Amino acid sequence: MHATLPLLQHTQFPPLRRNALEILQVNLGYKCNMSCVHCHVNAGPSRTEMMERSLIELIPEVLIARNLHTLDLTGGAPELHEDFRWLVGEARKQGCKVIDRCNLTILFEPGQEDLAEFLAANQVEVVASLPCYSLENVDKQRGKGAFDKSILGLQKLNALGYGKPGSGLTLNLVYNPQDASLPPNQATLQADYQRELFEHFGIVFDQLLAIANMPIQRFGSMLISKGKFNDYMCLLHENFAAANLETVMCRNLVSVDWQGYLYDCDFNQQLGLPTPGQGRPHLKELLHHDIRDQAIRVADHCYGCTAGQGSSCGGAISSKNNQLITNHSSHLQMVTLK
Ligand code: SF4
Ligand code: SF4
Repeated sequence: MHATLPLLQHTQFPPLRRNALEILQVNLGYKCNMSCVHCHVNAGPSRTEMMERSLIELIPEVLIARNLHTLDLTGGAPELHEDFRWLVGEARKQGCKVIDRCNLTILFEPGQEDLAEFLAANQVEVVASLPCYSLENVDKQRGKGAFDKSILGLQKLNALGYGKPGSGLTLNLVYNPQDASLPPNQATLQADYQRELFEHFGIVFDQLLAIANMPIQRFGSMLISKGKFNDYMCLLHENFAAANLETVMCRNLVSVDWQGYLYDCDFNQQLGLPTPGQGRPHLKELLHHDIRDQAIRVADHCYGCTAGQGSSCGGAISSKNNQLITNHSSHLQMVTLK
């Protein structure tokens, strides 16, 4: 995949600067119980890179020092880190919102049988990948059996109150396309998901976040191997929507890798493009240094965040630009009902 890096870094993407930092997104390591084909961090069971305890202990200090309201935990499967629960507890004591990017199947891994109860007790927001509401599509992308386990995981979370009005337990789902297309309209797809998941499985959830696939790592390699990389980049460029520049996630978030180095977002982290600065900017510098107004390192993959309705770790950025999507409907493959 790194063979495409020179192409990605020669870009006409507009320059960006950070607003006030609000969210610390931390990748606790690359170990995961799954090996999904779209995974942009190439996570899997054999990965051994995990954040060390001394760095984990820095995180609550940084949350206080920078007055951050959200800690967003990702991986791999962040729950597999042995200090995951300690970190969640510390952040919650400080009143921070904690997001767990959960693959759902982790809830059934050995040693994680009480994970759902832990998340609920700490009012952790669960953001769970469910790339489709059909067994065939989910298993194709995430591996055999993933759909059934995901459904069981969602039912387990629902039983604890997740996704139910008034529970204070937020359950959001993440959709990403199966192929080299942009996500369809998020609101329409959310209604489809709500109807299908409730009718067939009695599942409820709060929001569906429709996220575009980035042309990097495993998905980028797949595009190259199928000869679709350039077409996908053209699709992202053709659907550029300048309004989304105001709210791309790098404007108020910084991403930290398992070694503590800083990046403007998770995608830049996976491409090895650190935040601008002297040397390799590190988590410990956030104890004393405000990075508001700092320039953001943009490259050609950034068009994945601005295309059509826009895409961020919080889903679509703008509903105003949906018309752009329908104007390019020939590129789209809508999710079909099973
Ligand atoms: S569950 Fe998430 S982190 Fe794990 S392999 Fe799949 S996409 Fe990657
Ligand atoms: S890829 Fe990262 S740096 Fe580029 S626009 Fe998206 S969030 Fe910002």
